[in-house]
Amino acid sequence: MSANDLPVVLELRNLRKHFGNTQIIRGADLQLKQGERLALIGPNGAGKSTLFNLVSGRTAASSGEILLRGRNINGLSPFQVNRLGLARSFQVSNIFPQLSVRENLRAAVLSSHGYRHVFWRRLSALRAVSQRTEEVLRQCGLQAECDTLGGDLSYAAQRALEIGITIAGDAGLILLDEPTAGMSRDESAAAAELIRSVSAGKTLLMIEHDMDVVFGLVDRIAVLVDGRIIACDTPAAIRGNRAVQAAYLGNAEAAP
Ligand code: ADP
Ligand code: MG
Repeated sequence: MSANDLPVVLELRNLRKHFGNTQIIRGADLQLKQGERLALIGPNGAGKSTLFNLVSGRTAASSGEILLRGRNINGLSPFQVNRLGLARSFQVSNIFPQLSVRENLRAAVLSSHGYRHVFWRRLSALRAVSQRTEEVLRQCGLQAECDTLGGDLSYAAQRALEIGITIAGDAGLILLDEPTAGMSRDESAAAAELIRSVSAGKTLLMIEHDMDVVFGLVDRIAVLVDGRIIACDTPAAIRGNRAVQAAYLGNAEAAP
Protein backbone atom coordinates (compact mmCIF):
# COMPACT_ATOMS: atom_id res chain seq x y z
CA MET A 1 0.00 0.00 0.00
CA SER A 2 1.51 3.35 -0.95
CA ALA A 3 1.30 6.32 1.41
CA ASN A 4 -1.48 7.77 -0.75
CA ASP A 5 -3.69 4.75 -0.05
CA LEU A 6 -3.35 4.97 3.72
CA PRO A 7 -6.54 5.91 5.57
CA VAL A 8 -6.93 9.50 6.70
CA VAL A 9 -7.01 9.59 10.50
CA LEU A 10 -7.59 13.31 11.02
CA GLU A 11 -8.85 15.93 8.63
CA LEU A 12 -9.52 19.61 9.24
CA ARG A 13 -11.69 21.40 6.71
CA ASN A 14 -11.87 25.17 6.68
CA LEU A 15 -11.68 25.21 10.46
CA ARG A 16 -12.36 28.53 12.15
CA LYS A 17 -12.41 29.78 15.70
CA HIS A 18 -13.07 33.23 16.99
CA PHE A 19 -13.23 34.50 20.55
CA GLY A 20 -15.58 37.48 20.46
CA ASN A 21 -14.45 39.53 17.48
CA THR A 22 -10.95 38.10 17.43
CA GLN A 23 -10.34 35.51 14.72
CA ILE A 24 -7.78 33.02 15.99
CA ILE A 25 -8.10 30.12 13.55
CA ARG A 26 -8.94 31.50 10.10
CA GLY A 27 -9.73 28.57 7.86
CA ALA A 28 -7.28 25.75 8.61
CA ASP A 29 -7.09 22.69 6.35
CA LEU A 30 -5.02 19.64 7.19
CA GLN A 31 -4.91 15.90 6.52
CA LEU A 32 -3.10 13.34 8.62
CA LYS A 33 -2.69 9.79 7.33
CA GLN A 34 -2.47 6.64 9.40
CA GLY A 35 1.00 6.24 10.90
CA GLU A 36 2.15 9.71 9.96
CA ARG A 37 4.11 11.99 12.29
CA LEU A 38 3.35 15.64 11.74
CA ALA A 39 4.69 18.69 13.55
CA LEU A 40 2.73 21.90 13.83
CA ILE A 41 5.08 24.86 14.06
CA GLY A 42 4.48 28.59 14.02
CA PRO A 43 5.23 31.78 15.91
CA ASN A 44 4.04 32.31 19.46
CA GLY A 45 0.34 33.23 19.43
CA ALA A 46 -0.26 31.72 15.96
CA GLY A 47 -3.09 29.55 17.34
CA LYS A 48 -1.36 26.18 17.73
CA SER A 49 -2.71 25.36 21.19
CA THR A 50 -6.12 26.67 20.16
CA LEU A 51 -6.07 24.26 17.22
CA PHE A 52 -5.27 21.43 19.63
CA ASN A 53 -8.13 22.56 21.88
CA LEU A 54 -10.50 22.33 18.92
CA VAL A 55 -9.28 18.91 17.81
CA SER A 56 -9.34 17.45 21.32
CA GLY A 57 -12.82 18.76 22.16
CA ARG A 58 -11.83 21.36 24.74
CA THR A 59 -13.31 24.16 22.66
CA ALA A 60 -15.94 23.96 19.93
CA ALA A 61 -15.00 25.36 16.53
CA SER A 62 -16.92 28.38 15.24
CA SER A 63 -17.26 26.70 11.84
CA GLY A 64 -15.68 24.08 9.64
CA GLU A 65 -15.17 20.37 10.18
CA ILE A 66 -12.92 18.16 12.28
CA LEU A 67 -13.09 14.62 10.97
CA LEU A 68 -11.65 11.80 13.06
CA ARG A 69 -11.54 8.73 10.83
CA GLY A 70 -14.29 10.32 8.75
CA ARG A 71 -16.55 11.26 11.65
CA ASN A 72 -17.20 14.92 12.41
CA ILE A 73 -16.22 15.37 16.06
CA ASN A 74 -16.76 19.12 16.33
CA GLY A 75 -18.82 19.78 19.47
CA LEU A 76 -17.96 16.49 21.20
CA SER A 77 -16.47 16.69 24.70
CA PRO A 78 -12.81 15.86 25.40
CA PHE A 79 -14.05 12.67 27.07
CA GLN A 80 -16.00 11.61 23.98
CA VAL A 81 -13.12 12.46 21.65
CA ASN A 82 -10.77 10.46 23.86
CA ARG A 83 -13.08 7.45 23.66
CA LEU A 84 -12.82 7.67 19.89
CA GLY A 85 -9.06 7.11 20.13
CA LEU A 86 -7.48 10.54 20.48
CA ALA A 87 -5.22 11.40 23.43
CA ARG A 88 -3.45 14.68 24.07
CA SER A 89 -0.82 16.00 26.41
CA PHE A 90 -0.85 19.55 27.67
CA GLN A 91 1.67 22.35 27.51
CA VAL A 92 1.27 22.60 31.27
CA SER A 93 1.77 19.39 33.18
CA ASN A 94 -1.17 17.20 34.01
CA ILE A 95 0.43 14.86 36.56
CA PHE A 96 -0.57 14.25 40.18
CA PRO A 97 2.42 15.50 42.24
CA GLN A 98 1.42 13.51 45.35
CA LEU A 99 1.15 10.18 43.53
CA SER A 100 4.10 7.99 42.59
CA VAL A 101 5.04 7.55 38.96
CA ARG A 102 3.42 4.10 38.96
CA GLU A 103 0.25 5.42 40.63
CA ASN A 104 0.04 8.24 38.09
CA LEU A 105 0.24 5.76 35.23
CA ARG A 106 -2.16 3.35 36.89
CA ALA A 107 -4.69 6.16 37.29
CA ALA A 108 -4.35 6.97 33.60
CA VAL A 109 -4.79 3.32 32.60
CA LEU A 110 -7.82 2.99 34.89
CA SER A 111 -9.49 6.07 33.52
CA SER A 112 -8.99 4.81 29.98
CA HIS A 113 -10.84 1.59 30.95
CA GLY A 114 -13.48 3.34 33.03
CA TYR A 115 -16.22 3.38 30.46
CA ARG A 116 -16.67 -0.37 30.32
CA HIS A 117 -18.94 -1.25 33.23
CA VAL A 118 -18.63 -4.99 32.78
CA PHE A 119 -14.89 -4.57 32.90
CA TRP A 120 -14.93 -4.31 36.69
CA ARG A 121 -16.85 -7.55 37.19
CA ARG A 122 -13.85 -9.54 36.03
CA LEU A 123 -10.85 -10.20 38.26
CA SER A 124 -8.69 -10.55 35.18
CA ALA A 125 -9.43 -6.88 34.55
CA LEU A 126 -7.27 -5.86 37.49
CA ARG A 127 -4.43 -7.97 36.17
CA ALA A 128 -4.84 -6.31 32.76
CA VAL A 129 -4.62 -2.88 34.38
CA SER A 130 -1.44 -3.85 36.23
CA GLN A 131 0.09 -5.30 33.09
CA ARG A 132 -0.71 -2.23 31.05
CA THR A 133 0.67 0.03 33.80
CA GLU A 134 3.99 -1.83 33.83
CA GLU A 135 4.11 -1.76 30.03
CA VAL A 136 3.64 2.03 29.92
CA LEU A 137 6.19 2.43 32.73
CA ARG A 138 8.71 0.59 30.53
CA GLN A 139 7.72 2.48 27.40
CA CYS A 140 8.27 5.87 28.97
CA GLY A 141 11.57 4.74 30.52
CA LEU A 142 10.63 5.46 34.13
CA GLN A 143 10.99 2.01 35.71
CA ALA A 144 13.87 3.13 37.93
CA GLU A 145 11.70 5.95 39.27
CA CYS A 146 8.44 4.04 39.58
CA ASP A 147 8.11 4.83 43.32
CA THR A 148 9.17 8.48 43.11
CA LEU A 149 6.40 11.02 43.65
CA GLY A 150 5.40 12.85 40.49
CA GLY A 151 6.22 16.17 42.15
CA ASP A 152 9.76 15.01 43.04
CA LEU A 153 10.76 14.05 39.50
CA SER A 154 13.16 16.12 37.45
CA TYR A 155 11.48 18.36 34.89
CA ALA A 156 12.48 16.09 31.98
CA ALA A 157 11.19 13.01 33.82
CA GLN A 158 7.89 14.80 34.50
CA ARG A 159 7.52 15.39 30.79
CA ALA A 160 8.26 11.70 30.12
CA LEU A 161 5.58 10.80 32.67
CA GLU A 162 3.19 13.18 30.93
CA ILE A 163 3.82 11.28 27.70
CA GLY A 164 3.24 7.99 29.55
CA ILE A 165 -0.11 9.31 30.85
CA THR A 166 -1.04 10.35 27.32
CA ILE A 167 -0.31 6.94 25.77
CA ALA A 168 -1.74 4.91 28.67
CA GLY A 169 -5.09 4.40 26.96
CA ASP A 170 -3.41 3.17 23.77
CA ALA A 171 -5.06 5.83 21.59
CA GLY A 172 -4.31 5.61 17.87
CA LEU A 173 -3.90 9.38 17.47
CA ILE A 174 -1.57 11.18 19.87
CA LEU A 175 -1.37 14.97 20.24
CA LEU A 176 1.60 16.42 22.12
CA ASP A 177 1.79 20.13 22.90
CA GLU A 178 5.41 21.27 23.14
CA PRO A 179 6.74 18.08 24.73
CA THR A 180 10.33 19.37 24.86
CA ALA A 181 9.63 22.92 26.01
CA GLY A 182 12.13 24.05 28.64
CA MET A 183 14.50 21.12 28.10
CA SER A 184 18.24 21.16 27.52
CA ARG A 185 19.57 19.97 24.17
CA ASP A 186 20.37 16.49 25.52
CA GLU A 187 17.01 16.20 27.25
CA SER A 188 15.25 17.23 24.03
CA ALA A 189 17.15 14.60 22.04
CA ALA A 190 16.17 11.93 24.59
CA ALA A 191 12.55 13.12 24.53
CA ALA A 192 12.53 12.94 20.72
CA GLU A 193 13.68 9.30 20.92
CA LEU A 194 10.98 8.57 23.48
CA ILE A 195 8.34 10.18 21.26
CA ARG A 196 9.59 8.19 18.27
CA SER A 197 9.28 4.91 20.14
CA VAL A 198 5.91 5.51 21.80
CA SER A 199 4.37 6.76 18.55
CA ALA A 200 5.52 3.76 16.49
CA GLY A 201 2.51 2.32 14.70
CA LYS A 202 0.38 5.31 15.73
CA THR A 203 -0.41 8.69 14.25
CA LEU A 204 1.26 11.68 15.85
CA LEU A 205 0.50 15.39 15.77
CA MET A 206 2.86 17.52 17.85
CA ILE A 207 3.43 21.20 18.50
CA GLU A 208 7.15 21.73 18.68
CA HIS A 209 9.46 24.71 18.47
CA ASP A 210 12.78 22.85 18.58
CA MET A 211 13.84 22.46 14.96
CA ASP A 212 16.37 19.74 15.81
CA VAL A 213 13.58 17.67 17.33
CA VAL A 214 11.16 18.37 14.49
CA PHE A 215 13.48 17.82 11.56
CA GLY A 216 14.69 14.48 12.85
CA LEU A 217 11.39 13.04 13.96
CA VAL A 218 8.45 13.91 11.73
CA ASP A 219 7.35 13.05 8.19
CA ARG A 220 5.78 16.43 7.51
CA ILE A 221 5.62 19.88 9.02
CA ALA A 222 2.58 22.16 8.95
CA VAL A 223 3.27 25.85 9.47
CA LEU A 224 0.58 27.87 11.21
CA VAL A 225 0.81 31.64 10.89
CA ASP A 226 -2.01 33.94 12.01
CA GLY A 227 -4.48 31.07 12.21
CA ARG A 228 -3.80 29.72 8.73
CA ILE A 229 -1.66 26.80 7.63
CA ILE A 230 0.60 28.49 5.10
CA ALA A 231 2.60 25.37 4.19
CA CYS A 232 2.57 21.63 4.87
CA ASP A 233 5.40 19.56 3.47
CA THR A 234 8.44 17.43 4.25
CA PRO A 235 10.97 18.92 6.66
CA ALA A 236 13.45 19.46 3.80
CA ALA A 237 10.87 21.28 1.67
CA ILE A 238 9.74 23.41 4.62
CA ARG A 239 13.34 24.33 5.38
CA GLY A 240 13.67 25.62 1.80
CA ASN A 241 10.25 27.33 1.67
CA ARG A 242 10.74 31.08 1.33
CA ALA A 243 7.32 32.02 2.68
CA VAL A 244 8.00 29.94 5.77
CA GLN A 245 11.46 31.39 6.20
CA ALA A 246 10.03 34.86 6.01
CA ALA A 247 7.13 34.15 8.35
CA TYR A 248 8.83 31.94 10.86
CA LEU A 249 12.22 30.36 10.44
CA GLY A 250 13.75 33.75 9.72
CA ASN A 251 12.87 34.83 13.25
CA ALA A 252 13.55 31.47 14.85
CA GLU A 253 15.77 33.22 17.40
CA ALA A 254 12.83 35.36 18.42
CA ALA A 255 10.57 32.31 18.92
CA PRO A 256 10.38 30.89 22.46
P1 ADP B 1 0.11 29.32 20.30
O1 ADP B 1 -0.14 28.01 20.99
O2 ADP B 1 0.37 29.20 18.84
O3 ADP B 1 1.21 30.12 20.95
P2 ADP B 1 -2.55 30.03 21.23
O4 ADP B 1 -3.45 29.10 20.50
O5 ADP B 1 -2.24 29.69 22.65
O6 ADP B 1 -1.19 30.23 20.40
O7 ADP B 1 -3.14 31.49 21.21
C1 ADP B 1 -3.47 32.15 20.00
C2 ADP B 1 -4.20 33.42 20.31
O8 ADP B 1 -5.50 33.13 20.80
C3 ADP B 1 -3.53 34.26 21.38
O9 ADP B 1 -3.56 35.61 20.98
C4 ADP B 1 -4.41 34.05 22.60
O10 ADP B 1 -4.40 35.18 23.44
C5 ADP B 1 -5.77 33.81 21.99
N1 ADP B 1 -6.63 32.94 22.81
C6 ADP B 1 -6.40 31.67 23.13
N2 ADP B 1 -7.39 31.16 23.90
C7 ADP B 1 -8.28 32.19 24.08
C8 ADP B 1 -9.52 32.33 24.78
N3 ADP B 1 -10.07 31.30 25.46
N4 ADP B 1 -10.14 33.54 24.74
C9 ADP B 1 -9.61 34.56 24.05
N5 ADP B 1 -8.45 34.50 23.36
C10 ADP B 1 -7.79 33.33 23.38
MG1 MG C 1 0.74 27.03 22.68
